[in-house]
Amino acid sequence: MIYENSTIDRNIRADFPILQQEVHGMPLVYLANAATTQNPKAVLEAMCRYYESINSNVHRGVHSLSQQATTAHEAARETVRGFINAAEAEEIVFTRGTTESINLLAQSFGSACIPQGGTVVLSQMEHHANLVPWQEAVVRKGGRLAYIPMTDDFQLDLPVAENLLAQKPALLAVTQVSNALGRVNPIKELIRMAHAYGVPVLVDGAQAVAHMPVDVQDLDCDFYCFSGHKMYAPMGIGVLYGKKALLEQLPPYQFGGEMISEVHWHESRYNRLPFKFEAGTPAVAEAICLAEAIRYIEALGFDAVKAHDRMLLEAATEGLAAIDGLDIYAKEQPKCGVISFNIQGAHHYDVGVILDQMGIAVRTGHHCAQPLMGILGVSGTVRASFAVYNTVEEAEQLAAAVRKAKNMLT
Ligand code: PMP
Repeated sequence: MIYENSTIDRNIRADFPILQQEVHGMPLVYLANAATTQNPKAVLEAMCRYYESINSNVHRGVHSLSQQATTAHEAARETVRGFINAAEAEEIVFTRGTTESINLLAQSFGSACIPQGGTVVLSQMEHHANLVPWQEAVVRKGGRLAYIPMTDDFQLDLPVAENLLAQKPALLAVTQVSNALGRVNPIKELIRMAHAYGVPVLVDGAQAVAHMPVDVQDLDCDFYCFSGHKMYAPMGIGVLYGKKALLEQLPPYQFGGEMISEVHWHESRYNRLPFKFEAGTPAVAEAICLAEAIRYIEALGFDAVKAHDRMLLEAATEGLAAIDGLDIYAKEQPKCGVISFNIQGAHHYDVGVILDQMGIAVRTGHHCAQPLMGILGVSGTVRASFAVYNTVEEAEQLAAAVRKAKNMLT
């Protein structure tokens, strides 16, 4: 079968040491990339280099190592700024990941900008990370959440979205790409719609940034967040982007060192952006590694990344769709990176265990989207998700392994 052509050289796999292993005596086929991606050597070496040569606490030291660590940390911030085309590096707040970015906003924006009895609008395909913090935030204000529903083909229902936004909620918080379905949402249109009613927008970009170019100025989103570990960087580093004028108005989230400019016994003054939101010692090496991962992705180029992604999705969808008795969710475009399915009459967990025995790593369960699973009428799905190092052969192996699992389980 001829699939979309990818220009990504399969030698790319040599860049990822972890892929060179066997699991249960079979070569590892790693298809759990929506959960976390693997790190290329360039990133792992950046981590080593940092600890071997400049490890030091940042922003405070006069000594040479501290200055080098600070320079590298702030250079990483500038790299992130360029990656999402933020107007200024001050708009890039380093966090531990998407979850912390959203908690920061739910606390800070939640306390300052959600009025008593206010509403936050989400979509029905949010990850728990973009749902539970907002539940808490609206409860504190005696308010409520409203959800943009999905149509039968798992698209966000835009006319209903417009009705919800016309009621001028405090915020629209929506995912760019659904982690459970792979659906790509029309966020630019949603942002335009929200702004027409004066509603600010947070975009959860956790599943987008490794797969498509993101330009926060072009999107005109007010806030954008993502995690390093889903884009070939280590765990423990993430980003909250916010428009400067908005971030300046928001109160700090955590308190302590680094986030202050002056401390007195009974009151303190807070630091300028972005440090106001970065209390305590930051994850310096991880930020430097995130910048390295960005350089890695940029060297491949998003045209190549997108073509590769389409090729893998086409191959996996064709292989799986040919198996009778399989439910594939949100099969049609626009999609990216993820294929989610169930074998009728088999539990997703059992399918995952059998695939693992064949060396294939997939994620099973509710994918931190339990309310969405309720809409699908299942407790979970099997989810295969792709990265630049996956091959068409792996996508075909997945389909062959699912066929075997089906014969064993039904
Ligand atoms: N949002 C989405 C869409 C995700 O896929 C994830 C991770 N699965 C998160 C948020 C949370 O990311 P993290 O666990 O890195 O904080």
